[in-house]
Amino acid sequence: ATPTSIMVGTGRAAELGILFRQGDALQGLRDVQAVAFDKTGTLTAGKPALTDWVEVDGQARGEVLGVLAAVQAHSEHPIAHAIRQAASEAGMAALPEARAFRALTGAGVEAQVDGVRVIAGGERLMREEGVDTAAWAAQAESWGESGGTPLYVARDGRLAALFCVTDPILPQSAQAVAALHAEGVRTVMMTGDNRHTAQAVAQQLGIDDVRAELLPEGKVAAIEALRKEGMKVAFVGDGINDAPALAAADVGIALGTGTDIAMESASVVLMSDDLRKVPQAIALSRATMANIR
Ligand code: ADP
Ligand code: MG
Repeated sequence: ATPTSIMVGTGRAAELGILFRQGDALQGLRDVQAVAFDKTGTLTAGKPALTDWVEVDGQARGEVLGVLAAVQAHSEHPIAHAIRQAASEAGMAALPEARAFRALTGAGVEAQVDGVRVIAGGERLMREEGVDTAAWAAQAESWGESGGTPLYVARDGRLAALFCVTDPILPQSAQAVAALHAEGVRTVMMTGDNRHTAQAVAQQLGIDDVRAELLPEGKVAAIEALRKEGMKVAFVGDGINDAPALAAADVGIALGTGTDIAMESASVVLMSDDLRKVPQAIALSRATMANIR
């Protein structure tokens, strides 16, 4: 490709809402054989809602939800937003105060409420904290199989409730996956969420492979594994936890609707959450770069 054709290609991409932050990204995209997607906020809207609640040992939903919302007041995770929303819809105005809040990366949250240590998160966090969830495994699995995320809340090491949050799949995601397959590109999901939920969402979208329950470093390792197989890999993500993966991929593609850190770590930025721009960008780079193959 001549400098002129690259300029034309880059300009055409900009018209489509695809911004190249690095000059060699247009060329890098041409050779991409696999596209890995973050799930939450990338394939899904990143706006989950609380869709189910199960009381444990007679601990009333209203009271436990208030305590949980107090903890989640300190978290910026979309799950936290879903909980605060549910609490406010239930008419809870004054929440108890949560102290010593900590976000446990890829695992959940913890804080002290009225002298009680409260933790909330997925099954792995509960296992690590010695909270017994065995009696609820079937319930959690069934939520996961319908694409919801099962979560738990415990007080002083004892289960207080389990609940499900559901994040709607973005309408363009399935089309984006189909268009990538038509271009001969393999698709992979890399997520921090549990494997039942991840598999259910991937199956609805027709995604080839699923890597679930990954920490941010786990996403990097999964990308490195694909590269060791000789594949050129693009990673698409929106979150702070996606930044290492965006930097590690051959081409990092961040959503312009996502976090600043994700955009700074990427070489391509999409000016909307419409994932159809990913196959469009690859097709454009293939057309532009065709003459230097
Ligand atoms: P992803 O965005 O890929 O789903 P995260 O690393 O943000 O991954 O979160 C992974 C998991 O950590 C979530 O699926 C959930 O189990 C748990 N988690 C994170 N933040 C919270 C929170 N505020 N409340 C409860 N659980 C949380
Ligand atoms: Mg995300």
